[in-house]
Amino acid sequence: MPTTETCAECGAPPIEGFNCWEQLGALIAWEYNDPALHAQHFLVVASYNLQHPAQFTEMALEQLWMAFNDYLNHGVSAAELRQRAAKTYAGATRVLRPEAERRPQLRCWAMTIADVYLPEQPAGAVERLWGWARVIQANQAVTQA
Ligand SMILES: [Zn+2]
Repeated sequence: MPTTETCAECGAPPIEGFNCWEQLGALIAWEYNDPALHAQHFLVVASYNLQHPAQFTEMALEQLWMAFNDYLNHGVSAAELRQRAAKTYAGATRVLRPEAERRPQLRCWAMTIADVYLPEQPAGAVERLWGWARVIQANQAVTQA
């Protein structure tokens, strides 16, 4: 069913009936034809997850913020971050909250997935992605309060 509702957590408007999760899927689908975008897959998923924190445990979010900042500020590679996460989660550490415990809260952002996924406009997606990531990073203090 095409949706007409904005996302209850990130506030992204629907685009052509796609909710924000489906917009993420469409953006990821572009990666197959765009090696530059594919190279930033970590940033796509991390940005999306950081705008949808309700599903994650506090510890998982902390790790994600750390990885996100290391990637943006220190150029730590996605491969290294993956290894680090594998080590962190080698035990039975919970990443996702049980569904009954999730309390999505609407936050307003200057950019959401809807500003990155522009239908039929894959050109410039990498630049839009970086703009999105920087908006999220700039609001880090707010999101962690
Ligand atoms: Zn959303």
